Amino acid sequence: MAAEKITRVSLTHIPVSYRKEVGKNAYIDNIGRSRSEWLVRVRTDSGLEGLTIANRFMRGPDGTVAALLDTLKEALIGRTTDELLALDGDQVTGVGKTVSRAFRDHPWMTNAAFDLVGRVSGISCLDMLGGRVRDLVPAYDTTMYFQDFLDPGKGAAKCAEEAAAAKASGYRQMKIKTGRGGRWMLPEDGMRRDAEVVLAIRDAVGPDFTLLVDANFGYDGRMDLLGRFFEETASANIFWFEEMVTAGVDVYRQMREMQAKHAGAKSLLVCGEVDRNPISPVFQDLIDQGLIDGYQPDIVSHGFAGWMELERQLEGSGVKSVPHNFGNGRYGARASVIFGAASKTFVSHEDERQHDHTYKPDGLTFEDGGYRVGEFHGLGLEIDPDIWARDHAAHEIVISA
Ligand SMILES: [Mg+2]
Repeated sequence: MAAEKITRVSLTHIPVSYRKEVGKNAYIDNIGRSRSEWLVRVRTDSGLEGLTIANRFMRGPDGTVAALLDTLKEALIGRTTDELLALDGDQVTGVGKTVSRAFRDHPWMTNAAFDLVGRVSGISCLDMLGGRVRDLVPAYDTTMYFQDFLDPGKGAAKCAEEAAAAKASGYRQMKIKTGRGGRWMLPEDGMRRDAEVVLAIRDAVGPDFTLLVDANFGYDGRMDLLGRFFEETASANIFWFEEMVTAGVDVYRQMREMQAKHAGAKSLLVCGEVDRNPISPVFQDLIDQGLIDGYQPDIVSHGFAGWMELERQLEGSGVKSVPHNFGNGRYGARASVIFGAASKTFVSHEDERQHDHTYKPDGLTFEDGGYRVGEFHGLGLEIDPDIWARDHAAHEIVISA
């Protein structure tokens, strides 16, 4: 590729809205109706552009606009596109030497590097990630929070209603938040409500629908109640259990034993979205001892380069790639689906189902419960200039060389 110079980087806060009000999970109060994409546009002197979002940075301890601008300027302005990534043919093999420190500290930047290098070179991020392994990437609706608390009169029936609506919209998979007894209810009452919700949803969607369960550690210290939850929901045929308790070898071994006793023996155990520096020792122990089946660092926060490295480390372990995507907006959906189309062990895209905004229709079509991925360069995500001029241009903060 002919290298191009990065002469302009911009940051824009973009609100992104859900299709419904999203309730609490085990530890956090109501998500509400909208969140943010901190969109970073990285542009070369010829006008080509790579995109990423800086949500991880802005939610972190140094999360101010001023600090982020300094970080972006130092990392990217004046670099040439051939400095960003190391490639073998179309496939990325690592990050460039001059940016390795910045990309290690801020792995989400690597997504902009993939996007930009892809556009400069006329190749897709799919090929850069190793090539397409599937055309249709399965997706699960990830918005089943504690919806029962939003409408206490209906309770579990409210969750069942929303699950039926998701099915009617074409979804075939859904993740159900549990762990109500961790903070919001007495432990035993919380476990009962969790089970009631899971069973009501299973009734509403029927047997041919994949249900995932995530407790955000809501069963910490209550392995007895977790055992009863497994038992009470055994008939619901749960596909995976996520973060039922904080990662630890002893508790995960107990979970495997409890699963063997009840009908959920085939269910996967997954965790790792909280691992900020993967693969941290406790997760490596779980992987080495065969105690987890899927590992979840965030698809944007850990970035494409980080995930390629993770997949190299996971190879042969039997542990699947199940990247976290909640909170990444429409940008994250694009990144997650593209990664899913290129990853051999990817299971399902975590779909926030947010309303479209800012971007042109991106050529991903939702069908058969997943996203069909077409042909494109880079990430293939294009900003709509009219929407940009109307809604965002006035809030764009530009740094240039
Ligand atoms: Mg989770």
